[in-house]
Amino acid sequence: MTLSPSVYVLDTSVILTYSGALGALLKEGVAIPPSVLDEVQFEPQRSRLRELVEAGAEVIPPAEEAIKKVRETARAAGEHQMSEADIKVVALALQLGATLLTEDYSVQNVAQLLGVPWRCLTTRGIRKVYIWGVKCVDCGRVFEKPPGEVCSICGGRLRRWRLKAKGKLNFNKELHQSG
Ligand SMILES: [Zn+2]
Repeated sequence: MTLSPSVYVLDTSVILTYSGALGALLKEGVAIPPSVLDEVQFEPQRSRLRELVEAGAEVIPPAEEAIKKVRETARAAGEHQMSEADIKVVALALQLGATLLTEDYSVQNVAQLLGVPWRCLTTRGIRKVYIWGVKCVDCGRVFEKPPGEVCSICGGRLRRWRLKAKGKLNFNKELHQSG
C-alpha cells in the first residue's frame, strides 16, 4: 500500500472533541487503527466514525515494530500513562509517514520526539517537548522511573513531575489548522 504524506491518522481525542465534518479529510486520505474503533463507544461520535470508514477511511493495524519503537520512546520520555490505543495511533502514523491528528498532549509529545508530524483541530497543542520523571510528594526527591511505586528513600508517594522541556516548537503555526 502506498499512502502519500498528506494522509491523516486520527486518534480518539480528535474524534471525541471535533464536531466539524471529518469527511473533509478524506480527500487527503484517512487511516485509523482498529484500537480507535474499539475506543469510540458512544454516539454520536461512533456513527460519525463509522460513516468515515464507510466513506473510505482505511482501518489499518500498526506493525509490531512501529508499536515497539513508540513504546520505547514513550517510556524514555516518562509518558507512562499513555494507553495502548495512544501508542498504536502514533505507531500507525510513524509506519505510514502520515500526519497525526490528536488533541492529546502526551500523544503530541511522543509524536514530536519521533519526528511524526501532528496537528490538532480544537485545542492549542503542545508548545514544548517534555520529558517526565516522578517526584516524591513527601521528601521531594526526583526519580526517573514510572509513577505508582513508592519513594525508595522515605517510602512516600511518587507523582509525575516535569524533568525538562526541550526548546520551544516553532513549527506549530504552520502545522496548526485554524478553527
Ligand atoms: Zn521520599
